[in-house]
Amino acid sequence: MELKIGVIGCGAIGKEHIKRLQYKLQGCTVVAVSDVMEAGAQAAAELAGGVKYYTDIPSIVNDPEVDALVVCSPGFAHKEAVLAAIAAGKPVFTEKPLATTAADCKDIVDAEMASGRHLVQVGFMRRYDRGYNQVKAILDSGDFGQPLILKCTHRNPEVGTNYDTPMAVHDTAIHEIDVLHWLINDEYVSAQVLMPRTTKYSHPALRDPQIMVLKTKSGVIIDLEVFVNCKFGYDINCEVICEEGVVHMPAPSFPSVRKNGYYSTPIEQSWINRFIDSYDVELQNWVDCAKRGVVEGPTAWDGYVAAVTADALVKSQTTGAEEPILTGDIPAFYLN
Ligand code: NAP
Repeated sequence: MELKIGVIGCGAIGKEHIKRLQYKLQGCTVVAVSDVMEAGAQAAAELAGGVKYYTDIPSIVNDPEVDALVVCSPGFAHKEAVLAAIAAGKPVFTEKPLATTAADCKDIVDAEMASGRHLVQVGFMRRYDRGYNQVKAILDSGDFGQPLILKCTHRNPEVGTNYDTPMAVHDTAIHEIDVLHWLINDEYVSAQVLMPRTTKYSHPALRDPQIMVLKTKSGVIIDLEVFVNCKFGYDINCEVICEEGVVHMPAPSFPSVRKNGYYSTPIEQSWINRFIDSYDVELQNWVDCAKRGVVEGPTAWDGYVAAVTADALVKSQTTGAEEPILTGDIPAFYLN
């Protein structure tokens, strides 16, 4: 049986997901799309092969032909769509962030728990990346003992002039915030941001690079360098120092070349290329799980934890202090 999907928000990633769901993945079909801009909705409907389109959230969510929703609108519009899907009892995959404030994320958590069903998955696709999964399998095997320190980098070649200091957390580190606690099966307890000298390639509203330090319940210290005007490439690294050895996440492979006296290997330039495969794995898994009525990926609780952690990091960007991350205990509902 095909899962019949409605896609809300038909911008850049909305169109990518429509193509992926309609023409690449198995066991699903896009039957409706929606966007506040009618022309955008119409174009996306054509992209999906001539499906119906709407310009409001209630119409697509309550369309009886729609079994499940994929939300790709901007972050500020996620809450309305996700709450509507929960109210309709339909599985919903929302692109990150779950919502733009921790309080709004908590409202979604509370609504999902009140519904008594697991319906929400958040689009933190790094959990589906091959490299992170290879590292996780090694850590989970126990062969390397307990993790002690993580050294990570998130480097982009450059960003636009509208990108400011808090965006280093909300738009960039947010992916590490989700994937790293999952990687080591731990919880964050505090966050601190250290500001080194700023690169000449930045501008007055952006401190760049930044060192973000996250401490976990078990005492692991995570050192994350965010450097969004590094110039040389899109460079994601993750090294886990353990009791019995060190695990280094592999980078996607490129041919090494010998030329003009140099032996060199290219560095990825684009985040789209670096994580392209993980979007396919993520959404195929979501489709398969939605048909079974389960959520295996990042939950609404994970979306809430990411929001609280991001708030602590942004606070520390100003105070420079170690800020507590206070999420409360994970509800039993999300331990099932
Ligand atoms: P985008 O190109 O701006 O597309 C968003 C679309 O949604 C636009 O067509 C927008 O219309 C429309 N929209 C706005 N409000 C809406 C509403 N209430 N209902 C339905 N549609 C609405 O943005 P994007 O780059 O695709 O990003 C969308 C989401 O995906 C964001 O949350 C972003 O963080 C996330 N994202 C995740 C990843 C990842 O790596 N996982 C990568 C990229 C993006 P208007 O243009 O008229 O406002």
